[in-house]
Amino acid sequence: MQSSYPWLRSVVGVVIFLTSCTLLGLYFNQLLLALLIGAFCLLGWHYWRLYRLNHWLWHSKKISPPTARGIWSDIYQGIYSSNLRSRDKRKALGEIIRRFRQGSEALPDAAIIIDKNAEITWCNRLARIELGLSWPEDMGKKIYERIDDKQFITFYHANRFEQPIEITSPINPNKVLEFRMVPYEDDNLMVVVRDVTRLTQIEKMRKNFVANVSHELKTPLTVINGYLEMLPENGDMPEPMMKKAISEMRSQSVRMQSLIEELLVLSRIEASTERAFEKLVNVPQLLWQIQVEADALNREKKHKIFFDISPILYVYGIETELRSAFSNLIFNAINYTPNGGVIEVKWTLEGKQVKFSVKDNGYGIASKHIERLTERFYRVDKARSRTTGGSGLGLSIVKHVLSHHNSLLTIQSKLGKGSTFSCSFSPEQTYIVEKNSSS
Ligand code: ADP
Repeated sequence: MQSSYPWLRSVVGVVIFLTSCTLLGLYFNQLLLALLIGAFCLLGWHYWRLYRLNHWLWHSKKISPPTARGIWSDIYQGIYSSNLRSRDKRKALGEIIRRFRQGSEALPDAAIIIDKNAEITWCNRLARIELGLSWPEDMGKKIYERIDDKQFITFYHANRFEQPIEITSPINPNKVLEFRMVPYEDDNLMVVVRDVTRLTQIEKMRKNFVANVSHELKTPLTVINGYLEMLPENGDMPEPMMKKAISEMRSQSVRMQSLIEELLVLSRIEASTERAFEKLVNVPQLLWQIQVEADALNREKKHKIFFDISPILYVYGIETELRSAFSNLIFNAINYTPNGGVIEVKWTLEGKQVKFSVKDNGYGIASKHIERLTERFYRVDKARSRTTGGSGLGLSIVKHVLSHHNSLLTIQSKLGKGSTFSCSFSPEQTYIVEKNSSS
Protein backbone atom coordinates (compact mmCIF):
# COMPACT_ATOMS: atom_id res chain seq x y z
CA MET A 1 0.00 0.00 0.00
CA GLN A 2 1.25 3.40 -0.91
CA SER A 3 1.48 5.80 2.05
CA SER A 4 0.50 9.49 1.72
CA TYR A 5 3.51 10.51 3.77
CA PRO A 6 5.95 11.05 0.82
CA TRP A 7 3.35 13.30 -0.81
CA LEU A 8 3.15 15.37 2.30
CA ARG A 9 6.91 15.49 2.53
CA SER A 10 7.15 16.43 -1.09
CA VAL A 11 4.60 19.27 -0.66
CA VAL A 12 6.43 20.45 2.47
CA GLY A 13 9.72 20.30 0.53
CA VAL A 14 8.24 22.44 -2.32
CA VAL A 15 6.82 24.94 0.18
CA ILE A 16 10.18 25.21 1.99
CA PHE A 17 11.99 25.61 -1.33
CA LEU A 18 9.58 28.30 -2.58
CA THR A 19 9.67 30.10 0.83
CA SER A 20 13.47 30.11 0.64
CA CYS A 21 13.20 31.56 -2.89
CA THR A 22 10.73 34.22 -1.63
CA LEU A 23 13.02 35.17 1.25
CA LEU A 24 16.01 35.38 -1.07
CA GLY A 25 13.94 37.49 -3.52
CA LEU A 26 12.86 39.82 -0.74
CA TYR A 27 16.43 40.09 0.49
CA PHE A 28 17.73 41.05 -2.95
CA ASN A 29 14.56 42.95 -3.77
CA GLN A 30 13.99 40.64 -6.79
CA LEU A 31 11.01 38.59 -5.64
CA LEU A 32 9.60 37.75 -9.08
CA LEU A 33 12.96 36.82 -10.54
CA ALA A 34 13.79 34.63 -7.52
CA LEU A 35 10.41 32.82 -7.74
CA LEU A 36 10.84 32.33 -11.50
CA ILE A 37 14.33 30.86 -11.08
CA GLY A 38 13.04 28.67 -8.25
CA ALA A 39 10.11 27.39 -10.32
CA PHE A 40 12.46 26.63 -13.31
CA CYS A 41 14.81 24.74 -11.04
CA LEU A 42 11.93 22.71 -9.66
CA LEU A 43 10.61 21.97 -13.15
CA GLY A 44 14.10 21.09 -14.37
CA TRP A 45 14.62 18.73 -11.48
CA HIS A 46 11.33 16.92 -12.22
CA TYR A 47 12.18 16.74 -15.93
CA TRP A 48 15.52 15.25 -15.04
CA ARG A 49 13.71 12.62 -12.93
CA LEU A 50 11.28 11.93 -15.78
CA TYR A 51 14.21 11.47 -18.13
CA ARG A 52 15.83 9.00 -15.67
CA LEU A 53 12.53 7.14 -15.34
CA ASN A 54 12.11 6.91 -19.09
CA HIS A 55 15.69 5.70 -19.47
CA TRP A 56 15.21 3.04 -16.79
CA LEU A 57 11.93 1.82 -18.31
CA TRP A 58 13.10 1.59 -21.92
CA HIS A 59 16.86 1.37 -22.04
CA SER A 60 18.24 0.07 -18.79
CA LYS A 61 18.82 -3.65 -18.27
CA LYS A 62 18.71 -3.26 -14.54
CA ILE A 63 15.62 -4.55 -12.81
CA SER A 64 16.19 -2.51 -9.65
CA PRO A 65 15.30 1.19 -10.02
CA PRO A 66 17.83 4.04 -9.85
CA THR A 67 18.09 5.72 -6.48
CA ALA A 68 15.86 8.73 -6.03
CA ARG A 69 14.51 10.82 -3.25
CA GLY A 70 11.09 11.98 -2.23
CA ILE A 71 8.09 11.34 -4.42
CA TRP A 72 10.29 9.88 -7.17
CA SER A 73 11.57 7.17 -4.88
CA ASP A 74 7.94 6.21 -4.28
CA ILE A 75 7.10 6.14 -7.98
CA TYR A 76 10.15 3.97 -8.74
CA GLN A 77 9.28 1.58 -5.93
CA GLY A 78 5.67 1.34 -7.18
CA ILE A 79 6.75 0.49 -10.73
CA TYR A 80 9.43 -1.85 -9.45
CA SER A 81 7.06 -3.89 -7.26
CA SER A 82 4.43 -4.05 -10.02
CA ASN A 83 7.19 -5.33 -12.36
CA LEU A 84 8.17 -7.94 -9.80
CA ARG A 85 4.56 -9.10 -9.48
CA SER A 86 4.07 -9.47 -13.23
CA ARG A 87 7.47 -11.18 -13.50
CA ASP A 88 6.32 -13.79 -10.96
CA LYS A 89 3.07 -14.23 -12.89
CA ARG A 90 4.99 -14.61 -16.14
CA LYS A 91 7.25 -17.16 -14.48
CA ALA A 92 4.26 -19.16 -13.24
CA LEU A 93 2.64 -19.01 -16.68
CA GLY A 94 5.92 -20.01 -18.32
CA GLU A 95 6.11 -22.98 -15.96
CA ILE A 96 2.55 -24.03 -16.89
CA ILE A 97 3.37 -23.77 -20.61
CA ARG A 98 6.62 -25.68 -20.09
CA ARG A 99 4.75 -28.47 -18.30
CA PHE A 100 2.07 -28.56 -21.00
CA ARG A 101 4.74 -28.76 -23.70
CA GLN A 102 6.62 -31.51 -21.84
CA GLY A 103 3.38 -33.44 -21.38
CA SER A 104 2.41 -33.13 -25.00
CA GLU A 105 5.89 -34.07 -26.16
CA ALA A 106 5.55 -37.22 -24.08
CA LEU A 107 2.24 -38.10 -25.78
CA PRO A 108 2.41 -41.37 -27.68
CA ASP A 109 0.51 -39.69 -30.53
CA ALA A 110 1.28 -36.82 -32.84
CA ALA A 111 -0.77 -33.72 -31.99
CA ILE A 112 -1.37 -30.52 -33.93
CA ILE A 113 -3.52 -27.56 -32.93
CA ILE A 114 -5.16 -25.58 -35.72
CA ASP A 115 -7.32 -22.48 -35.51
CA LYS A 116 -10.63 -21.79 -37.26
CA ASN A 117 -8.78 -20.81 -40.45
CA ALA A 118 -7.08 -24.22 -40.52
CA GLU A 119 -3.78 -22.56 -39.64
CA ILE A 120 -1.30 -24.52 -37.56
CA THR A 121 -0.75 -22.85 -34.20
CA TRP A 122 1.21 -25.59 -32.49
CA CYS A 123 2.46 -29.16 -32.99
CA ASN A 124 4.42 -31.63 -30.90
CA ARG A 125 7.64 -33.47 -31.72
CA LEU A 126 5.88 -36.62 -32.95
CA ALA A 127 3.87 -34.53 -35.41
CA ARG A 128 7.13 -33.25 -36.81
CA ILE A 129 8.50 -36.78 -37.08
CA GLU A 130 5.39 -38.60 -38.35
CA LEU A 131 4.05 -35.90 -40.67
CA GLY A 132 7.26 -34.15 -41.68
CA LEU A 133 6.19 -30.78 -40.23
CA SER A 134 8.88 -28.21 -39.45
CA TRP A 135 8.71 -25.99 -36.43
CA PRO A 136 8.40 -23.00 -36.27
CA GLU A 137 8.48 -22.72 -40.08
CA ASP A 138 5.06 -24.30 -40.45
CA MET A 139 3.41 -22.11 -37.83
CA GLY A 140 0.51 -20.27 -39.50
CA LYS A 141 0.45 -22.54 -42.54
CA LYS A 142 -2.80 -24.22 -43.55
CA ILE A 143 -2.94 -27.82 -42.40
CA TYR A 144 -4.21 -29.10 -45.75
CA GLU A 145 -1.22 -27.52 -47.48
CA ARG A 146 1.15 -29.43 -45.23
CA ILE A 147 -0.84 -32.68 -45.28
CA ASP A 148 -1.58 -32.68 -48.95
CA ASP A 149 -3.73 -35.80 -49.16
CA LYS A 150 -7.04 -35.82 -51.05
CA GLN A 151 -8.76 -38.01 -48.49
CA PHE A 152 -7.59 -35.80 -45.63
CA ILE A 153 -8.66 -32.58 -47.37
CA THR A 154 -12.14 -33.98 -48.07
CA PHE A 155 -12.35 -35.16 -44.46
CA TYR A 156 -11.33 -31.75 -43.14
CA HIS A 157 -13.80 -29.83 -45.29
CA ALA A 158 -16.66 -32.23 -44.58
CA ASN A 159 -16.47 -30.99 -41.00
CA ARG A 160 -17.75 -34.29 -39.60
CA PHE A 161 -15.26 -35.42 -37.06
CA GLU A 162 -17.11 -38.14 -35.14
CA GLN A 163 -15.21 -40.88 -36.93
CA PRO A 164 -11.45 -40.94 -37.48
CA ILE A 165 -9.96 -41.61 -40.91
CA GLU A 166 -7.01 -43.75 -41.91
CA ILE A 167 -4.64 -42.55 -44.57
CA THR A 168 -1.18 -43.43 -45.79
CA SER A 169 1.54 -41.42 -44.11
CA PRO A 170 2.54 -38.39 -46.21
CA ILE A 171 6.21 -39.23 -45.68
CA ASN A 172 6.24 -43.03 -45.53
CA PRO A 173 4.09 -45.03 -47.97
CA ASN A 174 4.43 -48.14 -45.77
CA LYS A 175 2.74 -46.50 -42.80
CA VAL A 176 -0.96 -46.09 -42.12
CA LEU A 177 -1.96 -43.20 -39.86
CA GLU A 178 -5.25 -42.61 -38.12
CA PHE A 179 -6.39 -38.96 -37.99
CA ARG A 180 -8.83 -37.88 -35.32
CA MET A 181 -10.11 -34.30 -35.04
CA VAL A 182 -11.04 -33.06 -31.60
CA PRO A 183 -12.86 -29.70 -31.40
CA TYR A 184 -11.00 -27.51 -28.99
CA GLU A 185 -12.07 -24.19 -27.41
CA ASP A 186 -13.03 -21.25 -29.71
CA ASP A 187 -13.31 -23.15 -32.98
CA ASN A 188 -9.83 -24.59 -32.58
CA LEU A 189 -9.19 -28.19 -33.51
CA MET A 190 -6.71 -30.64 -32.12
CA VAL A 191 -5.59 -33.18 -34.73
CA VAL A 192 -4.42 -36.40 -33.07
CA VAL A 193 -2.51 -38.75 -35.33
CA ARG A 194 -1.76 -42.36 -34.43
CA ASP A 195 0.34 -44.96 -36.21
CA VAL A 196 -2.06 -47.85 -36.87
CA THR A 197 0.10 -49.74 -39.35
CA ARG A 198 0.35 -52.77 -37.10
CA LEU A 199 -3.37 -52.83 -36.38
CA THR A 200 -4.27 -52.64 -40.06
CA GLN A 201 -1.70 -55.33 -40.83
CA ILE A 202 -3.18 -57.58 -38.14
CA GLU A 203 -6.67 -56.95 -39.50
CA LYS A 204 -5.44 -57.72 -43.02
CA MET A 205 -3.70 -60.87 -41.76
CA ARG A 206 -6.86 -61.96 -39.98
CA LYS A 207 -8.94 -61.51 -43.13
CA ASN A 208 -6.30 -63.31 -45.23
CA PHE A 209 -6.12 -66.07 -42.67
CA VAL A 210 -9.87 -66.71 -42.74
CA ALA A 211 -9.84 -66.57 -46.55
CA ASN A 212 -6.88 -68.98 -46.69
CA VAL A 213 -8.37 -71.47 -44.24
CA SER A 214 -11.65 -71.44 -46.12
CA HIS A 215 -9.83 -71.96 -49.39
CA GLU A 216 -7.66 -74.76 -48.00
CA LEU A 217 -10.71 -76.58 -46.64
CA LYS A 218 -12.82 -75.95 -49.72
CA THR A 219 -10.39 -77.61 -52.12
CA PRO A 220 -10.48 -81.13 -50.61
CA LEU A 221 -14.22 -80.80 -49.97
CA THR A 222 -14.82 -79.95 -53.62
CA VAL A 223 -12.84 -83.05 -54.68
CA ILE A 224 -14.80 -85.29 -52.27
CA ASN A 225 -18.11 -83.78 -53.39
CA GLY A 226 -17.16 -84.24 -57.04
CA TYR A 227 -16.57 -87.97 -56.51
CA LEU A 228 -19.74 -88.31 -54.43
CA GLU A 229 -21.79 -86.72 -57.21
CA MET A 230 -20.29 -89.13 -59.71
CA LEU A 231 -21.44 -92.08 -57.61
CA PRO A 232 -24.72 -93.42 -58.96
CA GLU A 233 -27.62 -93.67 -56.48
CA ASN A 234 -27.41 -97.47 -56.28
CA GLY A 235 -23.63 -97.37 -55.78
CA ASP A 236 -23.19 -99.38 -58.99
CA MET A 237 -19.84 -98.28 -60.36
CA PRO A 238 -17.04 -100.06 -62.19
CA GLU A 239 -14.57 -101.37 -59.61
CA PRO A 240 -11.43 -99.56 -60.81
CA MET A 241 -13.33 -96.25 -60.79
CA MET A 242 -14.72 -96.97 -57.35
CA LYS A 243 -11.24 -97.77 -56.04
CA LYS A 244 -9.86 -94.53 -57.43
CA ALA A 245 -12.76 -92.52 -56.01
CA ILE A 246 -12.35 -94.06 -52.56
CA SER A 247 -8.59 -93.61 -52.49
CA GLU A 248 -8.86 -90.00 -53.68
CA MET A 249 -11.57 -89.19 -51.15
CA ARG A 250 -9.53 -90.81 -48.41
CA SER A 251 -6.42 -88.82 -49.24
CA GLN A 252 -8.42 -85.58 -49.37
CA SER A 253 -10.03 -86.26 -46.02
CA VAL A 254 -6.61 -87.07 -44.53
CA ARG A 255 -5.41 -83.75 -45.92
CA MET A 256 -8.29 -81.91 -44.34
CA GLN A 257 -7.75 -83.69 -41.06
CA SER A 258 -4.05 -82.83 -40.97
CA LEU A 259 -4.84 -79.22 -41.86
CA ILE A 260 -7.33 -78.97 -39.02
CA GLU A 261 -4.88 -80.63 -36.63
CA GLU A 262 -2.16 -78.17 -37.62
CA LEU A 263 -4.54 -75.26 -37.20
CA LEU A 264 -5.41 -76.51 -33.75
CA VAL A 265 -1.73 -76.89 -32.85
CA LEU A 266 -1.07 -73.37 -34.05
CA SER A 267 -3.95 -71.83 -32.17
CA ARG A 268 -3.05 -73.84 -29.03
CA ILE A 269 0.50 -72.52 -29.15
CA GLU A 270 -0.67 -68.97 -29.76
CA ALA A 271 -3.19 -69.08 -26.95
CA SER A 272 -0.92 -71.02 -24.61
CA THR A 273 -0.47 -69.50 -21.19
CA GLU A 274 1.73 -72.40 -20.12
CA ARG A 275 5.04 -71.20 -18.82
CA ALA A 276 7.75 -72.44 -21.13
CA PHE A 277 10.62 -72.96 -18.76
CA GLU A 278 9.15 -74.99 -15.92
CA LYS A 279 9.73 -78.54 -17.10
CA LEU A 280 12.85 -80.25 -18.28
CA VAL A 281 12.38 -81.95 -21.65
CA ASN A 282 14.36 -85.04 -22.52
CA VAL A 283 15.07 -83.88 -26.05
CA PRO A 284 17.31 -86.85 -27.03
CA GLN A 285 14.51 -89.29 -26.25
CA LEU A 286 12.01 -87.09 -28.10
CA LEU A 287 14.27 -87.04 -31.17
CA TRP A 288 14.70 -90.81 -31.11
CA GLN A 289 10.92 -91.15 -31.18
CA ILE A 290 10.74 -88.78 -34.13
CA GLN A 291 13.50 -90.83 -35.78
CA VAL A 292 11.18 -93.86 -35.82
CA GLU A 293 8.41 -91.80 -37.46
CA ALA A 294 10.90 -90.32 -39.93
CA ASP A 295 12.08 -93.80 -40.92
CA ALA A 296 8.46 -94.75 -41.65
CA LEU A 297 7.94 -91.62 -43.77
CA ASN A 298 11.24 -92.27 -45.54
CA ARG A 299 10.30 -95.74 -46.74
CA GLU A 300 9.53 -94.61 -50.26
CA LYS A 301 12.02 -91.79 -50.51
CA LYS A 302 14.96 -93.88 -49.37
CA HIS A 303 17.05 -90.97 -48.08
CA LYS A 304 20.07 -91.59 -45.94
CA ILE A 305 19.16 -89.96 -42.65
CA PHE A 306 21.87 -89.45 -40.04
CA PHE A 307 20.96 -88.60 -36.48
CA ASP A 308 23.74 -87.11 -34.35
CA ILE A 309 22.06 -86.69 -30.99
CA SER A 310 23.88 -85.87 -27.82
CA PRO A 311 22.14 -87.91 -25.13
CA ILE A 312 23.09 -85.50 -22.34
CA LEU A 313 21.46 -82.32 -23.58
CA TYR A 314 18.07 -81.50 -22.08
CA VAL A 315 16.10 -78.29 -22.45
CA TYR A 316 13.60 -76.46 -20.25
CA GLY A 317 10.46 -76.23 -22.35
CA ILE A 318 7.14 -77.66 -23.44
CA GLU A 319 7.56 -81.15 -24.81
CA THR A 320 4.53 -81.22 -27.15
CA GLU A 321 5.54 -77.93 -28.73
CA LEU A 322 9.16 -78.93 -29.22
CA ARG A 323 8.10 -82.27 -30.71
CA SER A 324 5.89 -80.42 -33.16
CA ALA A 325 8.67 -78.01 -34.19
CA PHE A 326 11.46 -80.59 -34.52
CA SER A 327 9.29 -83.13 -36.37
CA ASN A 328 8.07 -80.48 -38.80
CA LEU A 329 11.64 -79.57 -39.71
CA ILE A 330 12.71 -83.21 -40.10
CA PHE A 331 9.63 -84.23 -42.12
CA ASN A 332 10.04 -81.16 -44.36
CA ALA A 333 13.60 -82.22 -45.11
CA ILE A 334 12.31 -85.66 -46.12
CA ASN A 335 9.49 -84.21 -48.22
CA TYR A 336 11.46 -81.51 -49.99
CA THR A 337 14.45 -83.65 -50.96
CA PRO A 338 14.34 -85.79 -54.11
CA ASN A 339 14.57 -89.56 -53.55
CA GLY A 340 17.85 -90.90 -52.26
CA GLY A 341 18.98 -87.66 -50.63
CA VAL A 342 21.12 -87.16 -47.57
CA ILE A 343 19.71 -85.64 -44.40
CA GLU A 344 21.58 -84.84 -41.19
CA VAL A 345 19.81 -84.14 -37.93
CA LYS A 346 21.97 -82.76 -35.14
CA TRP A 347 21.38 -82.03 -31.48
CA THR A 348 24.74 -80.89 -30.20
CA LEU A 349 26.60 -78.44 -28.06
CA GLU A 350 28.14 -75.55 -30.00
CA GLY A 351 30.18 -73.37 -27.71
CA LYS A 352 27.84 -72.74 -24.83
CA GLN A 353 24.68 -73.02 -26.90
CA VAL A 354 22.73 -76.16 -27.62
CA LYS A 355 21.92 -76.34 -31.29
CA PHE A 356 19.32 -78.27 -33.25
CA SER A 357 19.79 -78.46 -37.00
CA VAL A 358 18.39 -80.32 -39.97
CA LYS A 359 20.46 -80.28 -43.13
CA ASP A 360 19.34 -81.73 -46.44
CA ASN A 361 20.63 -81.76 -50.00
CA GLY A 362 17.17 -81.31 -51.44
CA TYR A 363 15.41 -78.80 -53.68
CA GLY A 364 16.55 -75.78 -51.72
CA ILE A 365 14.76 -72.45 -51.64
CA ALA A 366 15.40 -69.28 -53.64
CA SER A 367 16.47 -66.44 -51.37
CA LYS A 368 13.44 -64.26 -52.24
CA HIS A 369 11.16 -66.81 -50.53
CA ILE A 370 13.17 -67.34 -47.36
CA GLU A 371 11.87 -64.29 -45.51
CA ARG A 372 8.24 -65.31 -46.08
CA LEU A 373 8.53 -69.04 -45.34
CA THR A 374 7.21 -68.77 -41.79
CA GLU A 375 4.03 -66.94 -42.88
CA ARG A 376 0.91 -69.05 -42.58
CA PHE A 377 0.03 -70.93 -45.75
CA TYR A 378 3.11 -69.67 -47.55
CA ARG A 379 4.36 -72.33 -49.93
CA VAL A 380 7.16 -71.97 -52.43
CA ASP A 381 5.84 -74.52 -54.85
CA LYS A 382 2.13 -75.17 -54.37
CA ALA A 383 2.11 -78.22 -56.62
CA ARG A 384 4.98 -79.87 -54.74
CA SER A 385 3.43 -79.07 -51.37
CA ARG A 386 0.17 -80.62 -52.52
CA THR A 387 1.91 -83.92 -53.26
CA THR A 388 3.49 -83.90 -49.79
CA GLY A 389 0.11 -83.00 -48.26
CA GLY A 390 1.72 -79.83 -46.86
CA SER A 391 -0.62 -77.20 -45.51
CA GLY A 392 1.86 -74.35 -45.40
CA LEU A 393 1.45 -74.09 -41.64
CA GLY A 394 4.44 -76.17 -40.55
CA LEU A 395 7.07 -73.45 -40.44
CA SER A 396 4.75 -70.95 -38.79
CA ILE A 397 4.21 -73.52 -36.05
CA VAL A 398 8.00 -73.88 -35.77
CA LYS A 399 8.45 -70.12 -35.56
CA HIS A 400 5.84 -69.77 -32.83
CA VAL A 401 7.21 -72.65 -30.78
CA LEU A 402 10.74 -71.30 -30.97
CA SER A 403 9.70 -67.80 -30.06
CA HIS A 404 7.79 -69.27 -27.09
CA HIS A 405 11.13 -70.85 -26.10
CA ASN A 406 13.14 -67.66 -26.68
CA SER A 407 14.81 -69.08 -29.73
CA LEU A 408 14.86 -68.17 -33.42
CA LEU A 409 14.61 -70.21 -36.60
CA THR A 410 17.60 -69.74 -38.91
CA ILE A 411 17.21 -70.78 -42.53
CA GLN A 412 20.12 -71.19 -44.91
CA SER A 413 19.33 -72.49 -48.34
CA LYS A 414 20.55 -72.61 -51.92
CA LEU A 415 18.22 -73.40 -54.75
CA GLY A 416 18.98 -76.86 -56.11
CA LYS A 417 21.64 -77.55 -53.45
CA GLY A 418 19.75 -77.98 -50.19
CA SER A 419 18.80 -76.29 -46.98
CA THR A 420 19.72 -76.11 -43.31
CA PHE A 421 17.11 -75.19 -40.72
CA SER A 422 18.48 -74.58 -37.24
CA CYS A 423 17.87 -73.02 -33.86
CA SER A 424 19.82 -72.60 -30.63
CA PHE A 425 19.00 -72.56 -26.94
CA SER A 426 20.88 -70.52 -24.38
CA PRO A 427 22.88 -72.18 -21.56
CA GLU A 428 20.31 -70.92 -19.01
CA GLN A 429 17.61 -72.87 -20.82
CA THR A 430 19.56 -76.08 -21.14
CA TYR A 431 20.60 -78.77 -18.76
CA ILE A 432 23.55 -81.08 -19.23
CA VAL A 433 22.96 -84.45 -17.63
CA GLU A 434 25.90 -85.98 -15.78
CA LYS A 435 27.21 -88.99 -17.73
CA ASN A 436 26.85 -91.41 -14.83
CA SER A 437 23.48 -89.98 -13.84
CA SER A 438 20.63 -92.48 -13.93
CA SER A 439 18.16 -90.11 -15.66
P1 ADP B 1 4.24 -77.25 -45.88
O1 ADP B 1 3.17 -77.80 -45.03
O2 ADP B 1 3.77 -76.82 -47.25
O3 ADP B 1 5.46 -78.09 -45.90
P2 ADP B 1 5.78 -75.44 -44.27
O4 ADP B 1 5.36 -74.22 -43.56
O5 ADP B 1 6.33 -76.54 -43.47
O6 ADP B 1 4.58 -75.87 -45.16
O7 ADP B 1 6.87 -75.00 -45.32
C1 ADP B 1 6.61 -73.88 -46.16
C2 ADP B 1 7.30 -74.06 -47.49
O8 ADP B 1 8.71 -74.01 -47.29
C3 ADP B 1 7.06 -75.39 -48.13
O9 ADP B 1 5.89 -75.34 -48.91
C4 ADP B 1 8.28 -75.59 -48.96
O10 ADP B 1 8.11 -74.98 -50.21
C5 ADP B 1 9.37 -74.84 -48.22
N1 ADP B 1 10.25 -75.76 -47.45
C6 ADP B 1 10.13 -76.11 -46.17
N2 ADP B 1 11.14 -76.92 -45.79
C7 ADP B 1 11.91 -77.08 -46.88
C8 ADP B 1 13.12 -77.83 -47.14
N3 ADP B 1 13.74 -78.55 -46.22
N4 ADP B 1 13.62 -77.75 -48.40
C9 ADP B 1 13.03 -76.99 -49.35
N5 ADP B 1 11.89 -76.29 -49.16
C10 ADP B 1 11.34 -76.34 -47.95
